Amino acid sequence: MADAKSEALFERAAKVIPGGVNSPVRAFRAVGGKPVFVSRGEGAYLYSANNTKYTDFVGSWGPLILGHAHPAVVEAVTKAAAHGTTFGAPTELEVQFAEKITELYPSIEMLRAVSSGTEATMAALRVARGFTGRDVIVKFEGCYHGHADFLLVKAGSGAATLGVPDSAGVPTGAAGNTTTLPYNDIPALRDFFSARGHRLAAMIVEPVVGNMGCVPPEPGFLDEIVLLCKKHGAVSIFDEVMTGSRVARGGMQERAGIKPDMTCLGKIVGGGLPLAVYGGRRDIMEKVAPLGPVYQAGTLSGNPVAVSAALAVLDRLDEKLYAHLEAISARLQHGLEEAIAKSGEGACVQRVGSMLTLFFRKGPVKNWTDANGSDTARFGKWHAEMLARGQYWPPSQFEAAFVSGAHSMEDIDRAITAAGEALAACR
Ligand SMILES: *Cc1c(COP(=O)(O)O)cnc(C)c1O
Repeated sequence: MADAKSEALFERAAKVIPGGVNSPVRAFRAVGGKPVFVSRGEGAYLYSANNTKYTDFVGSWGPLILGHAHPAVVEAVTKAAAHGTTFGAPTELEVQFAEKITELYPSIEMLRAVSSGTEATMAALRVARGFTGRDVIVKFEGCYHGHADFLLVKAGSGAATLGVPDSAGVPTGAAGNTTTLPYNDIPALRDFFSARGHRLAAMIVEPVVGNMGCVPPEPGFLDEIVLLCKKHGAVSIFDEVMTGSRVARGGMQERAGIKPDMTCLGKIVGGGLPLAVYGGRRDIMEKVAPLGPVYQAGTLSGNPVAVSAALAVLDRLDEKLYAHLEAISARLQHGLEEAIAKSGEGACVQRVGSMLTLFFRKGPVKNWTDANGSDTARFGKWHAEMLARGQYWPPSQFEAAFVSGAHSMEDIDRAITAAGEALAACR
């Protein structure tokens, strides 16, 4: 239950903001609750409007790998802001940022900074279409790539189906060139390429899915995407907005040892400010204006405040951080698995690095059909019991939880104890 002050704010908010929130999943509707309004964050903790303390496993949905209000990030932002927040003219900071990204992600030879992950995927696909001169794109069921019209398509389960929009307000035509395939299904992938590969502009994929809950790629799945795209003259795009610098410093492409043609980044790489990236092979990125014919622009793109925050974060992504993240994430996974076994609940935990989901169904969860078979009502009950125990878990079965460098082993152990109690309480 949210506190009284949060409830009062929610009532005010609902009058002037649709659903009282500026992004739908914040509304807690998927867990049948009401949102906690946040007054401040500090390291691994959030404080509500009423000053109730929570251990945060959402981390603003991914960006906060160093936790809230890391002193180096606060200093970088403050310093930059004092020199001017935006110029609409290039700065040295942007060059440093771009150089840093190409160093961390060797597949990215050139890049553009934009202000959100949505913008990054939208632009990457426009560039891929401009580069190939083709229209068809493929996405995978259950993968989220932002809210551009032609990406708001999930389509039915099973074989490849032609896109039908997921949202009102999306013209059928806008999604008509979008085909969806089931995640982790290599035969379906091969079938698509033999039938329509010659018309494909780009295939976009979350290399570890976070947006149906955490679903890792099966061995060979990502390699096959990149390989078949190459063979058919199409562009492979890894949407690493969530996984970038999360599952490894250089994202899932570093972890899997695969080089996609293009990559989208955001969240962590944006340092907790509105900053995202699309980039990739030089010959593809040279199609972007003013070098080439594909138009893309942005008033606040690469502004000094956002780029300074990003550099402060990127400079702190060292081996020690990832070792700590792995240790506490593994402990969290095993603790949750033990609690599940003790409770007799039919649930499973899936994890890649410091992103993890507790699914209320037996594992493994390999695709959207599996994920969608989860008991969301039980998840909702469990979520409320966790919240009552000071644990701020993502308010949806279909989202990944994150830990940060600011979480301690003690934070994790408290969360495990709470999770066990919550499982018992919601039976
Ligand atoms: C969050 C996310 C996006 C969208 O990014 P925004 O900054 O919210 O627009 C796109 N792709 C993936 C994989 C994401 O997790």
